[in-house]
Amino acid sequence: MAVEINGKDFELKPRQNVLQNRKGKPFRDFDDIAITRDESKCIGCGLCRTACSEYNNLGIPVETKVEDCFYFRPDGKLKVTESNCTRCGQCILACPTGTLWEKENIIDVKKDLADPDKIVIAQIAPSLRVSLGESFGRNPEDILEGQMITALKKLGFDFVFDVNLGADFTTYEEAYDLKDRILEGKTPLFTSCCPARVKFIEDFHPKLVGNITSVRSPQECLAVLIKTYFAQKQNIDPAKISVVSIMPCVAKKFESRREGENKSGQFDVDWVLTTREFIKMIKGEQIDLPNLEAAEFDTPLGEASGAGAIYGASGGVMESAVRTFADIFRNVKIEKIDYISTEIPRQAKLDYQEFRGMEGIKKATLNIDGKEIKIAVATGLANAEKIIEEIKNGETYHYVEVMACPGGCVGGGGQSKPQNKEIMATRGNLQKQIINKRREALYKIDAGKSIRKAHENPILKQVYQEFLGCAGSELAQKYLHTNYNVKQARICQN
Ligand code: SF4
Ligand code: SF4
Repeated sequence: MAVEINGKDFELKPRQNVLQNRKGKPFRDFDDIAITRDESKCIGCGLCRTACSEYNNLGIPVETKVEDCFYFRPDGKLKVTESNCTRCGQCILACPTGTLWEKENIIDVKKDLADPDKIVIAQIAPSLRVSLGESFGRNPEDILEGQMITALKKLGFDFVFDVNLGADFTTYEEAYDLKDRILEGKTPLFTSCCPARVKFIEDFHPKLVGNITSVRSPQECLAVLIKTYFAQKQNIDPAKISVVSIMPCVAKKFESRREGENKSGQFDVDWVLTTREFIKMIKGEQIDLPNLEAAEFDTPLGEASGAGAIYGASGGVMESAVRTFADIFRNVKIEKIDYISTEIPRQAKLDYQEFRGMEGIKKATLNIDGKEIKIAVATGLANAEKIIEEIKNGETYHYVEVMACPGGCVGGGGQSKPQNKEIMATRGNLQKQIINKRREALYKIDAGKSIRKAHENPILKQVYQEFLGCAGSELAQKYLHTNYNVKQARICQN
């Protein structure tokens, strides 16, 4: 038997039998917020280390001999919390026995759903709608957005909102951050939406922490708006709201409990469920997902641009940001954006093919109003390391996107393992093919949207008009930016 890692097959070579009595006393680590590790299931194959080395060049799981057993311990320590693990979760996808798993929050979510005093709100990541179907006999490219919303309502969620809208807020704030930094000569700017990459920079390249944008990730931007703007509008006590993110990601669990992710006065995201946990919940209730009637996201936080949809693909964050940045950089009018008018300012181009595809590193130089903007997009931390090395050796980049997982969140550590039987029959880089199909489906969603730039989203305009003021305002800084890189609040022009 072989396990596919990074498009290659690795033979599974067990070194111990978990059913036999072993002298090497297994350790069980359930302390971490994101990852659990149960050595009683470990066969010593080391595929976790292979995954961590292949994708990240980190090799965090270290072979440790205990009596007659081989375990793979994080940085050679007993607990994940004692290591520099980024929580990307790629080792979970590689582990054939479930020794490594996400810290499940299904019971916590069910408890909130059963509490009559709680308003439980789901917010769904971009890539979920293109990766759920496979586990229900559908193809990877099938888009099950509406069915997913209906399933959540059947599970008892009061509202279902779209993290794609959170991505529009991240894009809008970040485009201004990029503009400021280019004008101030403080580049490169690193995107911040991947928490595994943030942790990687904090632990391995601390001198670059100031280069990470202070803008919060889409799940955090939307969650804080749910507990502030939406709560005020609905006259709900934010303490009664439970925000549940449904994510392709293990690291988002870690992000949700980071210091500073509590701008509403409590943690803005209460629980994070991975795609796998969500599937488990749906199947546990015997919900026939593909045959459900499609529903729409709830208002007002359910409408997103096409730019928000492509956040789930490597290069998508960059493309979204550049669509907005190009308009902001070229057009002073957007500085004084008329939040009510639907007038679209001078058009910059919409499709940036140069950022798309499954390559580990993509580079481009854009010319925006006579200014050369140099861009790098990396997927996998091993590729990020190469870009960082180039930067340390004097290469100029203005804007750098890094997503830890292969192909971006469509290949996230919390996603289901590929299920499609037809593609499975082809062997080889099956996982890569499926990730690519999910990626293509996101661009299809984008292409089908009438609004494809974050700053043209009417809901975003409405929230700035009614609540935040403008990009980088005092309130925007308070709610949509993190603490580690706070800069001065922008003064609103209108
Ligand atoms: S979660 Fe990611 S960084 Fe941590 S050990 Fe697994 S593959 Fe390595
Ligand atoms: S690439 Fe996406 S799924 Fe993977 S760790 Fe980063 S945010 Fe999570």
